Amino acid sequence: MTDMVLNEAKQAVLSATDADAQGVCPVSNADGDCAILVRDLHVYYGGFRALKDVDLRIASRQITAIIGPSGCGKSTMLRSFNRMNELVPTARTEGQVVFRGKNIYDPDVDAVEVRRRIGMVFQKPNPFPKSIYENVAWGARINGFRGNMDGLVESSLSHAALWDEVKDKLQQSALALSGGQQQRLCIARAIAVRPEIILMDEPASALDPIATLKIEELMRELARDYTIVVVTHNMQQAARVSDSTAFFMMDEDRAGYLVEYGPTRQLFTNPHDKRTEDYITGRFG
Ligand code: ADP
Repeated sequence: MTDMVLNEAKQAVLSATDADAQGVCPVSNADGDCAILVRDLHVYYGGFRALKDVDLRIASRQITAIIGPSGCGKSTMLRSFNRMNELVPTARTEGQVVFRGKNIYDPDVDAVEVRRRIGMVFQKPNPFPKSIYENVAWGARINGFRGNMDGLVESSLSHAALWDEVKDKLQQSALALSGGQQQRLCIARAIAVRPEIILMDEPASALDPIATLKIEELMRELARDYTIVVVTHNMQQAARVSDSTAFFMMDEDRAGYLVEYGPTRQLFTNPHDKRTEDYITGRFG
């Protein structure tokens, strides 16, 4: 069983030609290629430390996957990239998340602006109960967009590989779309405010295999223009879709920490850390 899991993961890595084409070691990237730099990050919920001592460099215009057992802090890590943890009243963050040379946790930084530039797509597609058109236009409008809205809606939907399926029914309710279409609509909505980074929290886990494949293909397309960080519990998906992978675990106090970070191919085929190998071969988790 464990060897089978490892072989599947290896196969997925070896067949992920798009990811291979990038082939860059994120750890050795120059600072200019670094989209987000995490320094000595600790995140607490009340008295409970959910993440500790995280140092991490997210490479630009690549897909970075965050993997690890349930509860090890993957979503907390993802939400710390755009200050979403602040929406939890008990949450507290220490350390730095540097984006464009500035710590996003500095007191003079506007969290709403951070979230515009570093957008998020959630596990369960969450379109507004509005038309397809309005779902895409709304965020741009409240961000003060004054340009050609029809053009923005079309380009965002095209970028999200949804335009052809919805162009004749833009005024229909978004809620009538299939789950996979709704998730692509949420991606179009995220793109419409022109972010630089897109965070995705298990974006395909509520979808069927065909819709999942479409989302994965779309992620590879989007990585040409955006930096993507994706949390996934599905190791085959991480292996297929990502360029770099960060593996988290938790200690005896249940505080999550980074075990290993590197190019996906290396992490899945030749991990440096015994704990990574044990996890990807299914010995725990
Ligand atoms: P993962 O995504 O790896 O499953 P999470 O980031 O969701 O992990 O959770 C990490 C830890 O933080 C878990 O122990 C979880 O119970 C706790 N946690 C997450 N969100 C909250 C919250 N809003 N309030 C209190 N504890 C939380």
